[in-house]
Amino acid sequence: MTASTALPDLSATGRKLRTLLLSSALAAAVLVGLSGEPAGGSDVVSVPDETPAPVMYLTFDDGPHWLFTPMLLDLLDRYGARVSFFPTAEAIVDRWDAATTRDLLNRGHTIGNHTWHHSDLSRMSADEAFSEVAMASSGLERLMGFSPTCFRAPYGEVGEIAAMLGPRLGMSLAGWTADPQEWRDPPIQDAMSYLHGRERDGLVVLFHDRKWLTLHIVEQVLKEYSDRGWVFDALPACMSDDLAAAAMHSLAPGDAPAGRVNPAQRVSGGTLVTGWAFDADLPAGGLYVRYTIPGSEPLLAGPTGVDHRFEFQVDSVSAGDDESPVCLWAVNAGPRRHDASLGCLQLPES
Ligand SMILES: [Zn+2]
Repeated sequence: MTASTALPDLSATGRKLRTLLLSSALAAAVLVGLSGEPAGGSDVVSVPDETPAPVMYLTFDDGPHWLFTPMLLDLLDRYGARVSFFPTAEAIVDRWDAATTRDLLNRGHTIGNHTWHHSDLSRMSADEAFSEVAMASSGLERLMGFSPTCFRAPYGEVGEIAAMLGPRLGMSLAGWTADPQEWRDPPIQDAMSYLHGRERDGLVVLFHDRKWLTLHIVEQVLKEYSDRGWVFDALPACMSDDLAAAAMHSLAPGDAPAGRVNPAQRVSGGTLVTGWAFDADLPAGGLYVRYTIPGSEPLLAGPTGVDHRFEFQVDSVSAGDDESPVCLWAVNAGPRRHDASLGCLQLPES
């Protein structure tokens, strides 16, 4: 038995654990050490809310790849999954334009800083490391329209700039808690077994969007864990308040809508679901949002307001006891009739 499988069964106790973390009034719950192994030395994961059911954060470093990254985006769309990318800034600035980058963000994913050259910051002076990271943020800002809010250190080595990240660079550190090391070409089943041994609510998995094998492993993860009621989201630390404004700025009439559902909030009698959705064909709002509750027909949640936000309540009775997630779509108002996923969420336990 490995150290990690000797841990208590967190799928059963995860709820208690999360409550414990929240009740400790930690602004950003530090999940370091939960996996029972060192994990890049930079594991700060903020817990988004009281969502009781499992969320997995898939992350993809060192892209973008001309073939595999677009294929991965299509694969993620098929499962309504949102993830976080940490491309090498030099590579994304060289290979992608603003429109391609905006398309990735408008699908609900996030992009964080992973330095300009993929440098080992522990081998650099503080000044060198700072300019390496600041240069990457500027490059990403040119493509995204806003500066990244999260940083992942290459090799997990933050070096001397750890104390500068928040105050001077405006970013939180984004580590990982599971590393299946798919770059070593493990059999897919070995990678899955590794994840089975570490699965817990809030697991942050390190992948790389530059290999065929990654696509196969990720497809297996999406399929299996979706069936078991897990949802896949972008890291909360990487979610900028500027994402919505940048989407609204970048979408043109005829484009598919973009948007995002927020973490669910429990209210008396049910769950409050909020988020934003924007379609450039409806600049004054009025975009319809549809959602599914397991076992029932798709439901219409009503239109967005003039501020492009939506809000509706799901009562406990209609939600039932099923632990499957509720998924939301924006009903495209434009000519292409291509609904856009707003993501999936788990309803809190009543
Ligand atoms: Zn890397």
